[in-house]
Amino acid sequence: MHSFHSICVKEVDAPVTTKSHILPIYPTSSFVFENIEQGIDIFTGKEQGHVYSRYGNPTVEAVAAKLAALEVYGSDIEANGIMVSSGMSAISTLFMATLKAGDKVLSQGNLYGGTTELLQKIFKNLGVEPIFTNLRDLDQTETILKENPTIKMLYFETPANPTLACVDIQALSALGKKYGAWTAIDNTFPTPYFQQPLILGCDFVIHSTTKFLNGHGNSIAGVIIGKDLAFMQEKVWTAMKLAGTNCNPWDAWLTHNGLKTLTLRMDRHQANATELANYLKEHNQVAQVNYLSLSDHPDHLLAKQQMSGYGGMMSFELKGGIKAGVKFMSSLKFCTLAPTLGDTDTLILHPASMSHKNVDKAMRERNGITDGLIRVSVGIESVEDIIADMDQAMSSIQ
Ligand SMILES: *Cc1c(COP(=O)(O)O)cnc(C)c1O
Repeated sequence: MHSFHSICVKEVDAPVTTKSHILPIYPTSSFVFENIEQGIDIFTGKEQGHVYSRYGNPTVEAVAAKLAALEVYGSDIEANGIMVSSGMSAISTLFMATLKAGDKVLSQGNLYGGTTELLQKIFKNLGVEPIFTNLRDLDQTETILKENPTIKMLYFETPANPTLACVDIQALSALGKKYGAWTAIDNTFPTPYFQQPLILGCDFVIHSTTKFLNGHGNSIAGVIIGKDLAFMQEKVWTAMKLAGTNCNPWDAWLTHNGLKTLTLRMDRHQANATELANYLKEHNQVAQVNYLSLSDHPDHLLAKQQMSGYGGMMSFELKGGIKAGVKFMSSLKFCTLAPTLGDTDTLILHPASMSHKNVDKAMRERNGITDGLIRVSVGIESVEDIIADMDQAMSSIQ
């Protein structure tokens, strides 16, 4: 008989009886070996099993496998997914696994802000030089690839913030192959429900699962999904393990919980965004509406070709510039002012007075962030409530 004290201290045996209906969370840093032989076999890879949660955790791996399956759904492609601690973590881990000093990355000017900064402030100092160009211009992109054989990564995002500009996934993937560069895409906005870049030829997809995939704004996580299974298992997994960019089981579990309603939410985000776009297009305070279903969006046809839906992100331009933007934002009562996107409720951002306040005006305007631009992550509420709120805010600026 052990002491009262020791009984308190010791772990209990896991109650494995009937299977849990819902994915269990494994909040454990390490795993126990039955005996020394099993320990050796698992450490050397002879037997499948878990060792330490930074290397792999059952909850995290189950969710990563589901995300990878969705990304190649409908094709006979096999993909491997590794969940990490955030969307930024997915991008940095992928770059660490694929690039070395002396390599270059070719990308676009209108990337997610954090990605541009990561390339300019971190990877540039490590000897990986970014080149930013207009990837919509395929001839120019090919010329740059031809002139720079050290470009090892073609990295893009489509549709991109804030104007929903698109690039041609199939054409860029083919250029990457032709010039020996990996292709990787940030597929956060459309999710695999509306866009499947691996099927269109891309090597890697990354997501901030924080956004639409979770959809409820209660976790930060990311995922890297790739088709080269050996490269994923060796290089990407090793980078994740050694840089310590692993996802924790709680955030993976929350992501999975949100994922269950992905299709219902995306369909509703899209239906609401379409109605809102039609309302805004007719408003006399609005100069321009950027939503991919609108036939006057410059990338409407490309989006139609490579996406199966237009998603829930849109932006619009107020005629009255900064002043109108600030007045509009401060008059909203129902919609939420927040810098994130992809949650169930409608989230609004005025980049010129908020996220891009400190960015040089000429530079932000080059990327479509004009003074009167409002970005909307259209939620899944009743669309009449979203439109009524915007309508009363519009009246306040007249
Ligand atoms: C939010 C976001 C990221 C970064 O993701 P985190 O989970 O915040 O690290 C990357 N790309 C896009 C398009 C995003 O919206």
